[in-house]
Amino acid sequence: MVVMIQAYKFALDPTAVQQDALRSHCGGQRYAFNWGLARIKANMNQRAAEQTYDIPDGQLTPAVSWSAYGLRRDWNQAKHQVAPWWRENSKEAYSSGLANLATALTNWRSSRAGDRRGPVTRFPRFKGRRGTVSCRFTTGALGLVESDRRRVKLPRIGAVRTCESTRKLARHVERGTARIRSATVSHLAGRWFCAFSVEITRPDPVPPPPDAVAGVDLGIKSLAVLSTGEVVPNPKHLEVAQRELRRLQRQAARRTGPDRRTGRTPSKRWRKIQARIARLHARVANARRDGLHKLTTRLVRRFGTIVLEDLNVSGMMRNRRLARHIAGVGMGELRRQIGYKAAWAGVRLVVADRWFPSSKTCSDCGAVKAKLPLRVRVYRCDECGFTLDRDLNAARNLAALADETAGGTSTASCAGTSNMPDGNPCQTHIAWATGIATGRPAPLSAGQRRRRKATTA
Ligand SMILES: [Zn+2]
Repeated sequence: MVVMIQAYKFALDPTAVQQDALRSHCGGQRYAFNWGLARIKANMNQRAAEQTYDIPDGQLTPAVSWSAYGLRRDWNQAKHQVAPWWRENSKEAYSSGLANLATALTNWRSSRAGDRRGPVTRFPRFKGRRGTVSCRFTTGALGLVESDRRRVKLPRIGAVRTCESTRKLARHVERGTARIRSATVSHLAGRWFCAFSVEITRPDPVPPPPDAVAGVDLGIKSLAVLSTGEVVPNPKHLEVAQRELRRLQRQAARRTGPDRRTGRTPSKRWRKIQARIARLHARVANARRDGLHKLTTRLVRRFGTIVLEDLNVSGMMRNRRLARHIAGVGMGELRRQIGYKAAWAGVRLVVADRWFPSSKTCSDCGAVKAKLPLRVRVYRCDECGFTLDRDLNAARNLAALADETAGGTSTASCAGTSNMPDGNPCQTHIAWATGIATGRPAPLSAGQRRRRKATTA
């Protein structure tokens, strides 16, 4: 038996009264977050000011607690004064805001100390009224309504109808293999959602035979090419939506948007269009995620060993010509899904090194080409004359990697290729505009050029 933590997220269909209650809880969460943050900032500023007056450390104003527990204790003392309406919402609303604040502060502190990977985490900022709202319940009457697969139970808010059946989770609950840890309600692009964090107990997975190997070459032209020859087409959800998106963004441009310099607030009509743009983006994202889930589940069920490339997605996103297409495919999300699903299903996942020349190697004789521009779609080997579709060739090379690394799960960097030219021959040249906006000096004017020539001569 394995215990795993899984999320089940349902779109909600709340009544008008329930919508008000949901909004009120999320607002309470935001209020507690901002209250705690304001207090901590004031305390930090006070201490910093005192230090400039050479007050010894022992006599400084004591620091306020940054832990979720300490914040909650202080909130419970102050809430009667600062929020006399606190009884309107479940106490969980305020606790979740303070817990989020504690996490944000911890992240900031560990990022500053260098203990945290990834981009630098900034100091938490105040939450605005129009930002994404959410609220987490960890205790009380939460879960599914018994013998009703269309409703979820939330503390203080009651039974809320869902847009789809909850049977996937309900079956686990009825069998006693699920323990619901928390419920988080959130609001995104005009819809309410409820996500349950659930501890699921499953029988040990029976993985597919490990000799069923699939090399997966991810791309833009087709979403994935398997070494078995199967081609998964790129559905291009974002490309399809571009037309509508352009139309809506043109409409938004004609309306009065916000302007930070003049402090102009956006008009209601501008906000309405922005909401429609957000809904369209959400629809594209949902369609993309759905397709990726179906693909990754299918791969994990069929193959005992999956070989993927370690793609530098954030690096590729820096290429301005490819960024939208790469984002539209969702490669990073695909990697993430295969990663956790392979672990759940007991499938061996081999990740090829970032510099493994999967496209440049001949899958027949093993010769490595020095360069292969992206526009060349068919691989032709100079050594043995072998000809194959570029992506299928890459997928076969990846599949061959599975045997080489029968023990481990990742590969060492491949040996250098023959006569590799200096630099990257396929690098995209980016010419930045000059001027104030980019901070680059403008090219010298004709007069300056003449003068410079005179001095050098
Ligand atoms: Zn060859």
